[in-house]
Amino acid sequence: MRFLDQATIKVKAGRGGNGCLSFRREKYVPKGGPDGGNGGHGGSVILQGNRGLLTLADFSHATLFSAEHGGNGRGKKQHGKQGEDAVIEVPCGTSVYDKESGSLLADIVEHHEQVCVALGGRGGRGNAHFANSIRKTPRFSEKGEPGQERGLQLELHLIADIGLLGVPNVGKSSLLAAISNAHPKIGSYPFTTLTPNLGVLETEERRVTVADLPGLVEKAHDDVGLGLRFLRHISRTKILLYVVDISLPTPEEVVEQWRTVQQECHTYDSALGNRPSVVVANKFDAAPSATHVQKVLDAFDGLEQPALTVSAWTGYGLADLSEALVSLAAQYTQTPASPGHRPDATKAGAGTLRHHAHEAEAVSIEPCPEGYRVRHHYLERIVQRYDFEQDEAVFRFNKLLKKHKVEEKLRENGAVPGETIMIGDVSFAFQPEGSYTPDAKG
Ligand code: GDP
Ligand code: MG
Repeated sequence: MRFLDQATIKVKAGRGGNGCLSFRREKYVPKGGPDGGNGGHGGSVILQGNRGLLTLADFSHATLFSAEHGGNGRGKKQHGKQGEDAVIEVPCGTSVYDKESGSLLADIVEHHEQVCVALGGRGGRGNAHFANSIRKTPRFSEKGEPGQERGLQLELHLIADIGLLGVPNVGKSSLLAAISNAHPKIGSYPFTTLTPNLGVLETEERRVTVADLPGLVEKAHDDVGLGLRFLRHISRTKILLYVVDISLPTPEEVVEQWRTVQQECHTYDSALGNRPSVVVANKFDAAPSATHVQKVLDAFDGLEQPALTVSAWTGYGLADLSEALVSLAAQYTQTPASPGHRPDATKAGAGTLRHHAHEAEAVSIEPCPEGYRVRHHYLERIVQRYDFEQDEAVFRFNKLLKKHKVEEKLRENGAVPGETIMIGDVSFAFQPEGSYTPDAKG
């Protein structure tokens, strides 16, 4: 499988609908009140992590993603429809950069993790909204705001369970092809692998992803361009598989080949030193002698470095290797990736990525005339965007409340069942363990 690790896309959020300026027209009512409805908010463009996706290849065809515009408000207090969000699925491990400034906006790591990359425009308010006891006939309404629009650079940081590492030509691509479903390009010259290939090793118990990382060159960590781009992929790999060539003339050279690559990785990211690793001595079929093989294995044994001998050509040792990888993956795939290499999306996206930035904020509760007010930028904003006529909106909103532990916080603050809870300008009745839908708006 070819593995594309970069893509450029354009995202356009929907425009907010215009608020309506209108007055009630009814028979026998000479001067009807204002009844212009609000415009719907424009849909946002949201990127969502999907662990089933392995590449950014889909983005080579589709490059423009737009969310729906909000509907205009109409007379009789009819509000415009909310524009539908455009949800774009990306592989977990995708970093999102602003095309123009080059700054990192977000880093999508988890399955179903969502980041808003272009915020939909606010819908304008209709004149009915502005009526009050003093101003009974407001003759103005708001226009919808335009949606955000921007170019994005997507980069995939590979999150494979297992990464194959080694100098060029030791047989990484051949091994990947031999143990997984991948069909990488195999050649006898350095740098045959210019972008990483990803293979999947399927067994009854689990699915293990193996990445063939491009050949490492000495001093790759000093290289700002190419070398670094290659090394970046290793950071999130959970198990390191060092591939060496056992057909080298002396056992010392074989061990040295491993040491070079290992040091290269550790210099790039010292945390890699703590990753579980296995040495795979490939080209067993071409090994000079049985004593040579034994000496190599003894040397790794002395270094307390687990090692296996295999041949991608003849298939020798491959069954043992696959078995070892599956059991290692089962043991270690919960290991979090090196925090040193996780860009701080919240900080980087502050201001522009409002959804994301505010999700980290804690909920606070304060008393208000109605009852209790929930203070949280994100919830206050999102509550306006939900159309609670939709079952899914109710479901999602309740999930959000749960996620932000709103119920617990309310209880801690002394709220009792039945009490009115305000979030933004929507009111709810407090019903612990129940499903929240807003009270009819006054
Ligand atoms: P990579 O650069 O590490 O990905 O290495 P490749 O998989 O492209 O292989 C480099 C060369 O080694 C190719 O000519 C392969 O045919 C050869 N090769 C790979 N595995 C074996 C093996 O088990 N035995 C022998 N004799 N040659 C191998
Ligand atoms: Mg290769």
